[in-house]
Amino acid sequence: MPLLYYWTAQNREWDLNYGASFHLNQKNALLHDIEPGESLWAFTRRSDGKYTMAAELIIRARTRNPETYRYGTYRVWGDLDRSRYFDIEHLPNAEPIIRMLSCKTDAKKLYHSFQGPAAVRRISADDDAILRSFSRDFPTDARAKLLPEDQLEAALMTDNPDRVRELVRVTYADDIHRDRMQRLQETIATRSRQHVLELRDIYNGCCQICAWSPRAVYGNDICEAHHVQWISRGGIDALSNLVLVCPNHHRAIHRFDAPYDWADNTFQFGASSEALMLQKHVLMPVERSI
Ligand SMILES: [Zn+2]
Ligand SMILES: [Zn+2]
Repeated sequence: MPLLYYWTAQNREWDLNYGASFHLNQKNALLHDIEPGESLWAFTRRSDGKYTMAAELIIRARTRNPETYRYGTYRVWGDLDRSRYFDIEHLPNAEPIIRMLSCKTDAKKLYHSFQGPAAVRRISADDDAILRSFSRDFPTDARAKLLPEDQLEAALMTDNPDRVRELVRVTYADDIHRDRMQRLQETIATRSRQHVLELRDIYNGCCQICAWSPRAVYGNDICEAHHVQWISRGGIDALSNLVLVCPNHHRAIHRFDAPYDWADNTFQFGASSEALMLQKHVLMPVERSI
């Protein structure tokens, strides 16, 4: 079923400036009642106090986070091509529309009806149609632009800072991307090939998914480090966000933009999934300090 979500302005800003992550986390299990292909509608409260629609995530996958994850166990992933982040500064007031919907919104201040686990709410198919029609021509926020992750990762892994800088510069030339550009520049500054060497050391050069050992077969290292949460979508360049995989699995992960489930350590490749066969270091999705 479709869902409606109250997204605080602060979290929205964070997401757009640092990642445009196209995902959402929640403690409320209701988040996983949404089916792939359905819409999760987010609204927010602007600095002028007005409520506007903020995003439509068209869901492509549902996974779980580690038990200790501060933003909750449940995660949904939006389809990158079809999901929309709206430009909230140029949108009409959404409060009358939201108050018309079937979910209970009778608090005097609208956001009071969406506190804690009630931040995410079930809505009907009719509500969904109302929001779709309301938002049909809404402008989107240009900040939700993503770097080509495979090129970025290749440049990072081969320790080619000039190529990384060039990619970031070309992708985020506009001033609206300044914050994102800054974060990526920091990533570059702290980048060290050390991570891939550490991973190869921990796993003896083997792929964590299939356990293939190029060292045993060729006497050489071929496995590559992959960022579980993509750098272009707010991931960090740390061991807790890296897995060591063979080139075949790395290609498959990128081809499918494979969502990761941190609860059972599984990559989802379309309808099938593969668990990590080898895991000796702890993986953790990014926790922001907000
Ligand atoms: Zn493999
Ligand atoms: Zn990768």
